[in-house]
Amino acid sequence: MKKVLLTLLFMFSFDTLSLNAKSYRWEQGETFLSFLRKQGISQKLYYGLDSDDRELLAEIRAGQRYTIIRRKRDKTILIPVTDELQVKITKRGKRGKIILEPIPFEVLKGSIHLKVTSREPLKELYRKTHSRGLVKALKEAYSSLNLKSIKRGDTITIFYEQKRRKKRAISNPKILASLITIGGKRYYSYLADDGRYYDSLGREYRVVTKRYSPYVKPVKRCRVSSRFTYKRFHPILHRYKAHLGVDYAAPYGTPIRAISDGKVIRKGYRGGYGKSITVQHSKGLKSLYAHMSRYRGDLKVGDRISKGSIIGYVGSTGRSTGPHLHLGIYKYGKAVNPERYINIREKRCYVKRLKGRELAKLKRKVVAYRAKFRRISKTGGNPIFVKNGIYLYKKNETKKS
Ligand SMILES: [Zn+2]
Repeated sequence: MKKVLLTLLFMFSFDTLSLNAKSYRWEQGETFLSFLRKQGISQKLYYGLDSDDRELLAEIRAGQRYTIIRRKRDKTILIPVTDELQVKITKRGKRGKIILEPIPFEVLKGSIHLKVTSREPLKELYRKTHSRGLVKALKEAYSSLNLKSIKRGDTITIFYEQKRRKKRAISNPKILASLITIGGKRYYSYLADDGRYYDSLGREYRVVTKRYSPYVKPVKRCRVSSRFTYKRFHPILHRYKAHLGVDYAAPYGTPIRAISDGKVIRKGYRGGYGKSITVQHSKGLKSLYAHMSRYRGDLKVGDRISKGSIIGYVGSTGRSTGPHLHLGIYKYGKAVNPERYINIREKRCYVKRLKGRELAKLKRKVVAYRAKFRRISKTGGNPIFVKNGIYLYKKNETKKS
């Protein structure tokens, strides 16, 4: 009747022998080597594995179920190591073999369309599927969206898949595409190739905070020779005078860099400051670079410059006792201590955006799902149900042994 949504990825080759298969549990304190000895299998086989595989075998935990299939004097032992890998030990007469192989599983495709009727949408989703994993997966698909804002009358639509082995769930369901409407506003979320979730425009549903320096040091490899103060003894003037900046002592010709993005608003000789440049930044901030030996050749007033770009070179022009850069920072015209700005680290929030080919791929997905979203709002979807927390079944699945 309906399209078969069941995809068989691997065949259960050993299921045909299931009459001779018996299930056991990995004992407490058992090691892989002691296990081989018990099974009468040469330990040499273990030492023949590469170190990564041996490390993986150390992951087998007490209580882990495994299978032994006996056939006359031969046997095959299957021990799951991870959700996706199993170790297969075969013994035929005197010859044995150990290999790691993917565990056969099937992928169930599920979908659900839910019209929220209560104040607890996630509980409703759980009641409809009995899958805690699906609720968890939905939170991941919308990690930066507040799912508590979903109200009565809103909708949740999910297309997902779930790996299953012998009717048991393997790992959590994976949401491929979903739509949540909150007060008529639509929030689509699509799984991209990088395993993350993006909206229709390629903006990630995740906010990353990173440490970031909005202002950089104007001279590399220098020392602070004089700090910002309202009262310091001036070595040339021989009187107390405010020092409304910071001095960085550095050799002649050391490049001077803009502390942040901005625009050159002044360039020229300014009395005591000598050859100097003033840059206007955002947030009412200005920076002054003084005592330069020379300016960067092509730099003009009005030029836009980026953070860290060279604007000139260290010198000793104006009222100066040796090569250094005097850096002044002004906030709305008032001198502030530059050391409070240089190399401060701010937390910034970033939302990743897909670009180029990745974005084009996502857009194709968006188009492909358009009709599916339309259809499901009429049918209600075809969810995968979970029984007793582990067994998976679908409504339209006929009962098999
Ligand atoms: Zn100075």
